[in-house]
Amino acid sequence: MTPVHVGLPGIRGALGLRERPDTPDLIDRFGRTARDLRVSITEKCSLRCRYCMPEAGLPPIEASKLLTPEEIARLVGVAVHRLGVREVRFTGGEPLMRRDLEQIIRKCRSVAPHTPIAATTNAVGLEHRARTLVEAGLDRINVSLDTIDRNSFALLTRRDRLDSVLTGIRAAQRAGLSQIKINAVLMPDTLDGAADLLSWCLDAQVELRFIEQMPLDAERAWASTTMITAQHLLDALRHKFDLVETRREDPSAPAERWIVDGGKGFVGIIASVTRSFCSECDRTRLTAEGTVRPCLFSDRETDLRTRMREGASDEELADVWRAAMWSKSAGHAIDTVGFVRPVRSMGAIGG
Ligand code: SAM
Ligand code: SF4
Repeated sequence: MTPVHVGLPGIRGALGLRERPDTPDLIDRFGRTARDLRVSITEKCSLRCRYCMPEAGLPPIEASKLLTPEEIARLVGVAVHRLGVREVRFTGGEPLMRRDLEQIIRKCRSVAPHTPIAATTNAVGLEHRARTLVEAGLDRINVSLDTIDRNSFALLTRRDRLDSVLTGIRAAQRAGLSQIKINAVLMPDTLDGAADLLSWCLDAQVELRFIEQMPLDAERAWASTTMITAQHLLDALRHKFDLVETRREDPSAPAERWIVDGGKGFVGIIASVTRSFCSECDRTRLTAEGTVRPCLFSDRETDLRTRMREGASDEELADVWRAAMWSKSAGHAIDTVGFVRPVRSMGAIGG
């Protein structure tokens, strides 16, 4: 495979502000405002995707360090009511590994009745919970599915659970979760299955988005020379489909979008590495242990859990969160001489 040029993140306007303006929102020095909250709720997972988890799983988080449903809901309330967050997404690890996921969603729904609540899930076991999750207040899901070939799935995830994922997606549709998006991360050995995956998604009426693999795998095997880029993928899909580029769903959305075969559906590509969207990033992250992580690629985290347990008020927590986001780095800088891989892998941060 030919080496690829890995893009550098553009920095919008490089505001270079020195002093934080007096605004309640989660702004940073580069002029970005975070509105999209990702909350990791566990490090546990039912799969072991090679681009994410080590074979043995991640080291377990001590129960006393994991945020409780009440604490998650309190921080979601702070984010929505004091910091201008407009969407909340639960992730992990695998959110379905928490038996109290319904309770978490119900509590968040009650503190933020009008805020969209979403989850990113591998859908293993979702068939048994889709209805109760919707009843609790879940609005949307993204499902990670990288191949519809059973053997490739088992090799990639180290678990033979493709049937459970597909059944879970259908159960989610029956439960009323429309607009399901499928996230696929391709590796060299699954690229050949990309067209079949797209055909399956078109038939199932779910929108497929391919995501470039980032250097966030626990086993540190990622290399720019072997990663599947957006361009490799487009070349592969064009053998089977007619693709016409179209507008993004919303201009700040990371996925570039194509109309497939004159209108059968859409396919998206999130070129997080080769066409980085760091300059448009509107995300703020909470880890399962209750730290704010402004950027996937920066290990700088700020502890809210301890402050919350020591009695901090909502406004004190909001202030700490604002300060953490103000120092968000400009971008990931993958493939620059100075690039340092973060210590935590994707499954430990929350993708
Ligand atoms: N277990 C859930 C799932 O797989 O959807 C949620 C957590 S997972 C870490 C969230 C997203 O991160 C998934 O869509 C997954 O494909 C993506 N992901 C994991 N490792 C990645 C990597 N190294 N590069 C890009 N995306 C990755
Ligand atoms: Fe688990 Fe999701 Fe990571 Fe796969 S991508 S190992 S399903 S956390």
